[in-house]
Amino acid sequence: MDDKVKELLEKLRTGAVNVGAAAGSTLREASARAGETIEITKLNMKIFDLNSEINQNMRKLGEIMYATHSGGVVNETELDALLCDVDDKRSEIKQYRERIRDMKKTTVCPMCGASCSRGDRFCRKCGADIG
Ligand SMILES: [Zn+2]
Repeated sequence: MDDKVKELLEKLRTGAVNVGAAAGSTLREASARAGETIEITKLNMKIFDLNSEINQNMRKLGEIMYATHSGGVVNETELDALLCDVDDKRSEIKQYRERIRDMKKTTVCPMCGASCSRGDRFCRKCGADIG
């Protein structure tokens, strides 16, 4: 075979491999991003549910307060349980919000799919230019 033809074939082959690798990494990156978006949506739904539950507790707490004002007998166990429940749910929401913040701070390397910080110039794993 002619050397020039060989060279051309080799070039085409290398080009095809590179295109294939790029397509693969774009897909990987896209699916990693999609997974991240789904995870953030799930966390936001959990936060929404927790907020609804907190609102219900707040309503009950308001009723207890009014009952006290009206001279009713306060069930202190119920009162404590409601207050603690609100505390727990608020700290749970805080954790979810932090997780969402952390996820939004990260990006995915287009070459190897590793998770990197948004401000990174190069991938921490493979060194690819991601800036
Ligand atoms: Zn990488």
